[in-house]
Amino acid sequence: MNVYIHTLGCFKNEVDSFGITTTLKNSGFNVVEDLDKADVIILNTCGFIRPAKEEAINYILRFIEQKKKRGIRLIVTGCLAQRYSKEIFDEFPEVDAIVGLGNIKEFPDIINRILDGDRFIKDGNLNELLKFKLDKPSLVYYLKIADGCNNRCRYCAIPLIRGSLQVRRPEEILEEAESALNKGSKELILIAQDLTSYKYKDYTLADLLKDLNSITGEFWIRLMYLYPSRVDENLVNTIANLDKIVKYIDIPLQHIDNTVLISMGRPDRKVAERAIRFAKEIPDVIIRSSFIIGYPTETQTAFENLLEFLSQERLHRVGFFTYSQEENTPAYELGDPIPDRVKRFRMKKAQILQRKIILDFHKSLIGKRYKVLVENKLDRTIDDCKVFIGRTYMDAPEIDSRVFIKSKEDILGKFVEVTIERLDGYDFWGKFWRE
Ligand code: SF4
Repeated sequence: MNVYIHTLGCFKNEVDSFGITTTLKNSGFNVVEDLDKADVIILNTCGFIRPAKEEAINYILRFIEQKKKRGIRLIVTGCLAQRYSKEIFDEFPEVDAIVGLGNIKEFPDIINRILDGDRFIKDGNLNELLKFKLDKPSLVYYLKIADGCNNRCRYCAIPLIRGSLQVRRPEEILEEAESALNKGSKELILIAQDLTSYKYKDYTLADLLKDLNSITGEFWIRLMYLYPSRVDENLVNTIANLDKIVKYIDIPLQHIDNTVLISMGRPDRKVAERAIRFAKEIPDVIIRSSFIIGYPTETQTAFENLLEFLSQERLHRVGFFTYSQEENTPAYELGDPIPDRVKRFRMKKAQILQRKIILDFHKSLIGKRYKVLVENKLDRTIDDCKVFIGRTYMDAPEIDSRVFIKSKEDILGKFVEVTIERLDGYDFWGKFWRE
């Protein structure tokens, strides 16, 4: 029985899809990469904001076409299924099962049931969200330390979908980290909706970082994400003093105008600025943040305050998202008064400003030498050399910049020293450096 899994959304969904893959393989199913060979399709969705929901629905429609042509079975899981199970069940009678979060170990049984002709909703089991281990060797390993969130940002649907904060036991996390490193991982990315909330009895995020850092071997640890009010001196000193933790601080601020922040239910501007100030104390730090454009209380002045902040702070990595009004969130009642064209215009303006900041920063890196983790290779050669693709500590996978490196030697999967030679859009070309 061939199963094809299509994953949308963030790396938390990738982690869940790895879990589903492992469970299915252990039960004798074939997980295939080729959609045309599938007998069963599992669509793992994101349902966080409107564009993600639209994308998921487009995929449901696309896979329904496959079902009509070839008689495959279709399962929809992930955040959209968790949030809108009943609506999907009623709207799309072609979908065989709608499976909420936390059911990873149930997939063999779910597939057997739909093959027997059952059609059903399997509700989410959020208590199980943390209870599985990945078993997939990969250079970059996403290590989930917590799930759910106790912050209550007024626009955010995540607590509705993934529930309140749940944290994993430290021993379990450390064991999983060691196992991944033994299988060849070179970068551990700690993930949670808010890493700074991590606390197991008296054991804090700082304790966990120290223990992870003491595992032997050459590897990086990257943190995603930190909540501004809990970025304090202690955490910053811990990050600064641990050699395996990359100096890449991701603090989503969402806005900087105080009125907007307060109406978002977020820490105020002073707290946001304090977090950035603390982070900047780390030598050679790279700071990433993300901002929502077009929140209902964002006036033109509030937006200009954001632009001014970006110009002043010159953050190294920034993501912008336009506001999406989400049902059942407290912000829903504010409506969505800012027209889409204004949101898009503001976003473009912020992006143009930030692009210049990033490119100026990138120009300043030319001629400097960095350690690069080589994770991929192009199919073509240049000057009789293979072309490899890697990342410095300054860049997270998928979202930031890449370094292209020509080399006759096979450097895939290794850390190498590279001198940055030139820019290619947001990416770099670098020269493989030898002593
Ligand atoms: S901290 Fe993040 S996940 Fe938690 S409520 Fe706020 S935006 Fe949502």
